[in-house]
Amino acid sequence: MIPFNQLKPLHDLLADEIHEALRRVADSGWYILGPEVREFEQEFAEYHGAARAVSVASGTDAIELGLLAGGVGAGDEVITVAHTAMATVTAIESTGAKPVLADIDLETYTLNPLAAREAITERTRAIVVVHLYGQPADMDGLKVLADEHNLLVIEDCAQAHGAEHKGRKVGTIGDIGAFSFYPTKNMGAYGDGGAVITSSLEYAERLEKLRNYGQTTRYRHHSRGTNSRLDEMQAAVLRVKLRHLDKHNKRRKEIAALYDANLHSVAGPPVLGDRRHVYHLYVIRDRDRDGLMTALQERGIGTLIHYPVPVHLQESHRDLSLPAGSLPETEKAAREILSLPLYIGLGDEEVLRVCAEIEKLRG
Ligand SMILES: *Cc1c(COP(=O)(O)O)cnc(C)c1O
Repeated sequence: MIPFNQLKPLHDLLADEIHEALRRVADSGWYILGPEVREFEQEFAEYHGAARAVSVASGTDAIELGLLAGGVGAGDEVITVAHTAMATVTAIESTGAKPVLADIDLETYTLNPLAAREAITERTRAIVVVHLYGQPADMDGLKVLADEHNLLVIEDCAQAHGAEHKGRKVGTIGDIGAFSFYPTKNMGAYGDGGAVITSSLEYAERLEKLRNYGQTTRYRHHSRGTNSRLDEMQAAVLRVKLRHLDKHNKRRKEIAALYDANLHSVAGPPVLGDRRHVYHLYVIRDRDRDGLMTALQERGIGTLIHYPVPVHLQESHRDLSLPAGSLPETEKAAREILSLPLYIGLGDEEVLRVCAEIEKLRG
């Protein structure tokens, strides 16, 4: 049996360092907004070459608070995609702004700048671009658009820790980078967590207040905020994970390269010269995706679909009034995509077995 994902092999590799980190925090007597969070924020900012990192409770919060820090709220429109985790859209809606869903480029599965341009109205204030699966979106096209219309650009980097676009780390190209540390992400905590990176000291300062009930100094509140903090345990775990991130991304890339070299009858992700994909997911496309998924399951190979129902076709979002057919590329992706096993601890032999089974079924 080859599962789609498992986290235990990675834990086993890092167990000594993780145990040391958790013990250090437990023994310190300081559990919220303490030295681990401070160190982690500094290290995470440094890794990106960003001026500041502000940690929060989740990736969803990172996007929401990032938008709020950038001044987005009720009455505003925010352009994003329907081909993403629901969290992206949830975060926009939590600010009071309206998500405007634009179609993707089917090759990269990310926001198509031309579709984003068509979605602009006089109310558009921001773009939330998602570097889905670990593939950086077309930031050049989106930056041109954002500059023309004076839009805030938030990068949803929840699946793209360490990915690069023209040599720049994602999260540092727009105004704000939002990260999730949900356990399955390329850099996962042992619970929920998130962070925002920015080169704007003003945004960073607002974020620090927003995550802590608007507090400026102890029990003094100059603005309203919420409770969205990373805890010391997660920060200590993430400091360990950050030290291994590049190595783990390198292994993900090796696995992806093995898939690339041994899959001939299904379409894998494109390798683009100006982008460094970090393969949060290795996604193929097949006309009879459901048939392939079932056949692989019968052969002991786990796969998943990210995501089977685009946001605009979810029951919860009927009020967006985007019927089937509104976003053709998004809908085609949802019908044909399949994510193959990819995790730290997956062996070359197992990858080759997945490829062999797919080639037997499709070749
Ligand atoms: C995981 C994810 C999020 C949300 O992160 P949480 O930490 O689960 O809140 C947002 N966007 C994308 C693309 C994600 O994959």
